[in-house]
Amino acid sequence: MKTALITGASRGIGAAMARAFAEAGYAVALNYRQSEEKARRLAEELTRQGGVAACYRADVADPHQAEEMVRRCEEELGQITVLINNAGISADGLFTDLTDEVWHRLWEVNVSGTLYCSRAVLPAMIRRGSGVILTLSSMWGQVGASCEVAYSATKAAVIGFTRALAQEVGPAGIRVNCLAPGVIDTDMNQVYGKEALDALAQETPLQRIGRPEEVAQLALWLASEKAGFITGQVIGINGGFC
Ligand code: NAP
Repeated sequence: MKTALITGASRGIGAAMARAFAEAGYAVALNYRQSEEKARRLAEELTRQGGVAACYRADVADPHQAEEMVRRCEEELGQITVLINNAGISADGLFTDLTDEVWHRLWEVNVSGTLYCSRAVLPAMIRRGSGVILTLSSMWGQVGASCEVAYSATKAAVIGFTRALAQEVGPAGIRVNCLAPGVIDTDMNQVYGKEALDALAQETPLQRIGRPEEVAQLALWLASEKAGFITGQVIGINGGFC
């Protein structure tokens, strides 16, 4: 059985990915940091439906917790076929108000978290000569967003990380690709409020914001053999916004 470790799977896009991968027959490892109850209920839901699912609490920004999560996951669910570095945080506000604390935390979670989890799964993938790593950027990482300088910078870094790692581990049979969603209907965007979200939808050629399930289907496809010749790519899923 293939196993997918999905970071930040307690809510939003990660939870939708967990459902999609479980439905496709993967054993799913649901990482969460704070939302224990949500992660546990999701694992129960997937198990009730006949799937295999387990929860792993870890702050991906802590290298020791990330390594321990991967070790336990491999021990309990078997070799990790797919790692999705989905856990992420955002912060909005004027650049001149950005504190060092917020700046560093965004880098720790969004960039270092991606590094720590990828580094922890790679030795076994390299030994097997196969594996898939997906990363989550954002369209703001591609074009930049006003009042989201720190978030945009970290998401641009994730693109550089993905492209370089894909070059390095491609010869070992491992594919690394990046999803760059536009505005997706999750808790992360609740800070915008209804009016701003409606305006963003209107700015989008497809005239709406995206659904977590749509991002999950892209991840599922990228992880599959159907995407076997795709690596080092950044795939936008943004309704045509950019
Ligand atoms: P969300 O609804 O805010 O959920 C974030 C998830 O990440 C939660 O499961 C949360 O877990 C987890 N998380 C946060 N910090 C963590 C940490 N240090 N360690 C482990 N888990 C952590 O976000 P989302 O909208 O689903 O976003 C998922 C990813 O897509 C992020 O990387 C985000 O940047 C990216 N993205 C989102 C959008 C969008 O419009 N929503 C657009 C582009 C890109 P707990 O609640 O358990 O702490």
